[in-house]
Amino acid sequence: MSDVPLHPETLAVHAGREVDAGTGAIALPIHPSTTFQRDADGGFSHGHIYTRYANPTRTHLETCIAALEGGVEAAAFASGTAAAMTVFQGLGPDAHVVASADSYHGILRLLREIMAPWRLAVSTVDTTDPDAVRAAMRPETRLLWVETPSNPLLKISDLDALADIARAANAVSVCDNTFATPILQRPLEHGFDVSMLSTTKYLGGHSDVLGGALVTRAADAFWERIRFLQGAGGAVPSPFDCWLMLRGAATLPLRVRAQSENAGRLAEHLVAHRMVEAVYYPGLAAHPGHALAARQMNGFGGMLSFTVKGGEAAAVKTAANVKLIKRATSLGGVESLIEHRASIEGPETRTPRNLLRMSVGVEHVDDLIADLENAL
Ligand code: PLP
Repeated sequence: MSDVPLHPETLAVHAGREVDAGTGAIALPIHPSTTFQRDADGGFSHGHIYTRYANPTRTHLETCIAALEGGVEAAAFASGTAAAMTVFQGLGPDAHVVASADSYHGILRLLREIMAPWRLAVSTVDTTDPDAVRAAMRPETRLLWVETPSNPLLKISDLDALADIARAANAVSVCDNTFATPILQRPLEHGFDVSMLSTTKYLGGHSDVLGGALVTRAADAFWERIRFLQGAGGAVPSPFDCWLMLRGAATLPLRVRAQSENAGRLAEHLVAHRMVEAVYYPGLAAHPGHALAARQMNGFGGMLSFTVKGGEAAAVKTAANVKLIKRATSLGGVESLIEHRASIEGPETRTPRNLLRMSVGVEHVDDLIADLENAL
């Protein structure tokens, strides 16, 4: 594409895309074919055999995501959860995993309810404290799973320090980079082995396609295992979903920047609101992870949480009162969403009962402020 390193805005538009040689089409074609013709001598000179193993449209997407994350290769999956599941399956039996206690609850559920009966042991720790992580590592620890910023408390963990701890323990380090996106944070540059994304969120960006990705710093033995599991396990996205995801990726930098700016404005507004107890947003100077976030991120992101005075009832009522902002789970789309987080996380949740999580969209921030002002 180019010999000089390109900026993320340029990569988002061009990486993985080329003008179609057959037609000159600028927009990429979708290759729905599940199977590809063998050569007369039985070979596969086109490079494709069967879509579960690889598909041209998926390869375009994987190339684009690898370039954005600064990795050597990416593997696309049918969801973020499928990507995470593939990492856990790649560990083998009797593995021990250390994971951020404030990780997306669905990931912790995978570890505790699906993987634990297969003899995988899990310790959840506050990964904002490197000493606590170091203390949790055991000789059989194979994976350090870190989510930063975390969901839903927006905790910030030190990527450089945690990558060092994992390396010293011979464990694979994986960062769930879903909230930050590669536009704001590139975990591989901090020494992490793998960056994981739920591409359902910001990469897709329009709340209309489910997907996930793993990106590796090196084509090592663990990555070979991931590639094997991707093709043999089969949790892969459809070519049409890959195409939609690539379309979303082109505007990722623009959207993330606009969403971060809006979230910053909203956070400042909420901090000063008499009905708001606390605001969790790493862009606020008072946030305990602010200095670290400023160091390892290129912006503070479009996600924020806040607690409402008056307990759970007041929080639920606030969510009920919004008109423009939609009451829904998920995040990263162009539209702003609000969610009473404890009720979606189930009975084991440790999220404060009066907490609302917001995925801030690209609307005009004054309209969002007016909607929240009215709701509160
Ligand atoms: N990681 C984070 C931080 C998430 O918020 C989510 C989904 O909400 C996931 C992973 C799982 O992704 P998916 O819903 O695409 O399976």
